[in-house]
Amino acid sequence: LVPRMQGFGTTIFAEMSALAVETGSINLGQGFPDTDGPPSMLDAAVEAIRNGGNQYPPGPGLPELREAVAAQRRDRYGLEYDPATEVYATVGATEGIAASVLALAGPGDEVVVFEPYYDSYAATIALAGAERRPVTLRPSEGRFTFDPDELRAAVGPRTKAILVNSPHNPAGTVFTRGELEAVAAVCREHDLVAITDEVYEYLTFDGAEHIPLASLDGMRERTVSVSSAGKTFSVTGWKTGWVTAPAPYVRAVQTVKQFTTYAAGGPWQRAAAHALRHELGWVEELRVSLQAKRDRLVSGLEAAGFRTYRPQGTYFVQADIRPLGFTDGMELARALPEKAGVVAIPTQVFYDHREAGAHFVRFAFCKKDEVIDEAVERLARLT
Ligand code: PMP
Ligand code: GLN
Repeated sequence: LVPRMQGFGTTIFAEMSALAVETGSINLGQGFPDTDGPPSMLDAAVEAIRNGGNQYPPGPGLPELREAVAAQRRDRYGLEYDPATEVYATVGATEGIAASVLALAGPGDEVVVFEPYYDSYAATIALAGAERRPVTLRPSEGRFTFDPDELRAAVGPRTKAILVNSPHNPAGTVFTRGELEAVAAVCREHDLVAITDEVYEYLTFDGAEHIPLASLDGMRERTVSVSSAGKTFSVTGWKTGWVTAPAPYVRAVQTVKQFTTYAAGGPWQRAAAHALRHELGWVEELRVSLQAKRDRLVSGLEAAGFRTYRPQGTYFVQADIRPLGFTDGMELARALPEKAGVVAIPTQVFYDHREAGAHFVRFAFCKKDEVIDEAVERLARLT
């Protein structure tokens, strides 16, 4: 293994999901729903498979998907993208992020990320030979946020890009317009590219609004936006995503992406295009049901003695383990299957400054009510 990838070992999601299977535990670790996406979307994929949709799609993606994505960005956010040159289909958001980072940052460059960060960011930046500069999100008034001065301090002459995830996994924060303005100001001042991870764009709660960074003044021209079907339509296994950006950035992404996978799976693209056009009502129902699940898990965790941060979006709750007498989330996450028959993710693995996240574990609530109830009952017997 090349030196720059040493230390990345096995992802925490693989480790913890394997532990869940091994111990027969309830898996509130890796974020994937235990129910399926909209039936008409599933039918569209089957139909594509039955009706000759099984050979290479065009590298940039099926035109119908690129058009549906452009229509979605326009109708929901007022952002105009040319489906022919400014939208590109990828193998999930993961490949969209990786291709963007690999295309835009190289050895000697720095990429700013907010920690805790989704684990693929660190690995992808390392793969590019670039360096990450973390800005820590800290709890303040019940949610995780950053200090704009720390963001400014993280940017230097070698900074190329900033990776922005909102709604944020694992913190659950939906960045406010004010927070995004702070990011945008830094990007404009230092001529940075923003790469945005918007996979939870529809999954926000209590009226929190997802605002794409590209919609802020002077940002469309310097933002590469990434999203995918996985979370929006509960098909995390389909690995169907897309990048929207000005044409020169899309060409840069294309240059990398055509050699990582060439094209993304055709039937899933066709079905995602269908769902973007016809199943956003289903997504709203999903959002409402997830908000109730969030509340169910938060109440249960609080009753079990955790201090929780009620997320404004995503699938995840951050839980502080100190009120229960624990201090190290990694130790607790490794012991939890044995102790309680529940799997969680130790948030510290998403930090460079591990001490900032040492006492947090992340629980997923994208599960059936009875699964959440059983998990919190088990956790209530933990101490
Ligand atoms: N970004 C974030 C913040 C995520 O939580 C995930 C996991 N779904 C991804 C990216 C990866 O998305 P995909 O499965 O579409 O590659
Ligand atoms: N996005 C999911 C999570 O954060 C898992 C994705 C993965 O397994 N890589 O839990």
